Amino acid sequence: MSIEIRNLSFNYGDLTALEEINLSLREGCFNALLGPNGAGKSTLFALLTRLYALQRGEIIIAGHSITRHPAQVMRKLGVVFQQSTLDLDLSVAQNLFYHAALHGMSKRQALPRISEELTRFDLSARLHDKVRNLNGGHRRRVEIARALLHKPTILLLDEPSVGLDPATRESLNRHIRKLCQEQQLTVLWATHLMEEVQQDDPVTILFKGKMLASDTANELCRQHQCADISTLFRSLTGAIA
Ligand code: ADP
Ligand code: MG
Repeated sequence: MSIEIRNLSFNYGDLTALEEINLSLREGCFNALLGPNGAGKSTLFALLTRLYALQRGEIIIAGHSITRHPAQVMRKLGVVFQQSTLDLDLSVAQNLFYHAALHGMSKRQALPRISEELTRFDLSARLHDKVRNLNGGHRRRVEIARALLHKPTILLLDEPSVGLDPATRESLNRHIRKLCQEQQLTVLWATHLMEEVQQDDPVTILFKGKMLASDTANELCRQHQCADISTLFRSLTGAIA
């Protein structure tokens, strides 16, 4: 299942944060949303998750408009916001059970799901630890495990790797790619780090609220005759900065 964004614009007062965005995520793939700070990435996430009401344009998730069928649509989504939303004073288990309850799961239903996701992330041994005692990489993994508890078909991650060391970043990125392959999860991964993008990823480049390009990294590099995505990014954003 996928997401289609049509003619989406959003203003904060006089400031245009997003302008005429048209984008379809490729189903079952790792889709990268590339943009520096202020590009409009988090604003887009806020609209996709209905944190903000739409002003102009439309968002279709798994075939349903998010304004017309919000409950059906939200069940398909898992999200990891830019700022962590874990309760540091609660244990990993308490954070996860609470979230499962919000999705209507009983403790009995939630327990096997929690074990499954934590095992996948090599975190089972930390079940009863307070989140405060986990390092940044482990906290991020708990957040991702939490976002997957209700078995969404689409996972949105807003700069999930910021603040992590390169090895942890790489392992997180690899893990998410594996989920795409094994479970046909559709992923939208926002980042400003070009090294997180692979050549056959569908990539959208966002800059100052505008979509500058959208295609696979390979194809974009070929069209613009750039050796790699970082060079392309610098040349596109430099041209209109
Ligand atoms: P990104 O996540 O790519 O860094 P944001 O979506 O956070 O970008 O921000 C896009 C633009 O909107 C920026 O210019 C930012 O300053 C502005 N902005 C973001 N949130 C607000 C807000 N709540 N009120 C006013 N302006 C905002
Ligand atoms: Mg942001």
